[in-house]
Amino acid sequence: MQDATLWRTLLGVEKTIVEDVNYDEETGILIASVRPTASQLRRCGECRHRCPKYDQGEGRRRWRGLDIGTVPVLLEADAPRVKCRKHGVSVAAVPWARHQAGHTKVFDQQVAWLATQTSKTAITQLMRIAWRTVGAIITRVWNDTAATFDPFANLTRIGIDEISYKRGHKYLSVVVDHDTGRLVWAAPGRDKATLRKFFDALGAERSAQITHVSADAADWIASVVAEKCPHAIRVADPFHVVKWATDALDEVRRATWNEARKDARTNEAKRGRGRPPKDAPPRPDSERAKKLKNSRYALWKNPEDLTEKQQAKLAWIVQTDPRLGRAYYLKEGLRTVFKLPYKDAADALDKWVAWARRSRIPAFVKLQKSIVKHRVAILASIEHGLSNGRIESMNTKIRLITRVAFGFKKPEALIALAMLSLGSHKPVLPGRK
Ligand SMILES: [Zn+2]
Repeated sequence: MQDATLWRTLLGVEKTIVEDVNYDEETGILIASVRPTASQLRRCGECRHRCPKYDQGEGRRRWRGLDIGTVPVLLEADAPRVKCRKHGVSVAAVPWARHQAGHTKVFDQQVAWLATQTSKTAITQLMRIAWRTVGAIITRVWNDTAATFDPFANLTRIGIDEISYKRGHKYLSVVVDHDTGRLVWAAPGRDKATLRKFFDALGAERSAQITHVSADAADWIASVVAEKCPHAIRVADPFHVVKWATDALDEVRRATWNEARKDARTNEAKRGRGRPPKDAPPRPDSERAKKLKNSRYALWKNPEDLTEKQQAKLAWIVQTDPRLGRAYYLKEGLRTVFKLPYKDAADALDKWVAWARRSRIPAFVKLQKSIVKHRVAILASIEHGLSNGRIESMNTKIRLITRVAFGFKKPEALIALAMLSLGSHKPVLPGRK
C-alpha cells in the first residue's frame, strides 16, 4: 500500500504492516486492515515466545484505535491461535494491542493518562467508552507498568493506612513512602493477612531496612509490624491523631445540636408549612439549632482555610456556647502540638492532656486517655519529622479517587487508578517524550 509509513504513524502502531485503509461512509468509521510484521508472527499471547500455529481461531478481529481527527478508527486483522509449551492454546499476540484487549496500546495509554487528569464524563465522552471499560483499561495498563520497576526500592520510612470505599462497606490497605510522598502498595482488605502480603512482597532483607512505620492505632497493623519488622520505630500517624480530635469535636457539636433541638421542641410551637406570617413570634431556639447543624465545616476546617462566613459562625459558637467553643480550642490545641519543634512538643502535649482531663467534656476526657496511651508514638512522629500535611494530602487524594472509582466493578481498577495517580510511575500521553 502507498503511504504505509504515514498510516502506521497515524494509527500509532509499531512492527505492524498496514495492508489497506477504508472509510465506511455509512458508519463513519475508518477501518485499517493490518498484520504483524514477520518477526511478530506466531507469538504466545501470554509470554510472547515464538510457537507453532494451532488454528485460524475465530477469523478476523477488530480493535479500537485512537480517533484520527474526529473519525473513529478500527484496526482489523486475522486472529490465529498458537500453542505455547507453557501456556497452551491462546490467540496469538499482536504488536498493537495487549493480550485479550479490545483497544490498541496507544488508546489504552491515552485513557490511563486521562483517568489521572480529568473527570469521568470527559473521559467517557471523549474516548466513547463506558466507565467500566476505563476500569478494565487502567487495570491492564497498571499491571504492565508495575512489571517494569521495583516499587520498593530504597524504602525506609513508611506509613500504613486503611481507606474505606464503596460508601464505607469495603476497605483497602495502603502503604506510602514518607520520603517521596508516593503511594507504593495497595490491596483490598484490612486485616493481618492483607498486610502480611505487603511484607512478603517486600521480603525479609528489605523489611529489615525499614526504620520507621507510621500508622493509626489499629491493633492489626501493630501486630503485623511487630512480627515483620520488629526493629522499626513505631510512630503515630499525626493525621489520625488530629482526626480523633476532630471526631471528638463533632461528637460535642452533635450533642449541642440535639440539646438545641430539644429546647426548640419544648419552648416553641410547631410551625406549619409555607412562609410564616409577618407577625409570627421569633423562634430563637429553632434558629440556634439550625445554625449549629450547619456549623460542621466551620469547626472542622483548619482556621487558616475558613471562609469569612465560616469565621463569623465560629466566632458566634465561641460566644454563645462556651463548651463547644472549648472543644474547638482543644482540637486546635492538639493540632498545634504537631507543628512545634520536638524540644517543645512533649511539654505542650502533657499540658494539653491536663487541659483535656479537666475539660469536663466526656469526648475529650476519653480522647486524652488515648493520647496518654500512645504518647511515645505521638512524640516519635514529631521527633522524626513525619509531615502531617503530606499524610493528610495523600489521604484526601486517595479518598477522592475512591469516589471517582465508585462505578468500577473490581477493586483492582480502584487500585490501578490510585497507583497510576499517586505512585512513582505516572502515565504519559502517547507520542510524547
Ligand atoms: Zn506462552
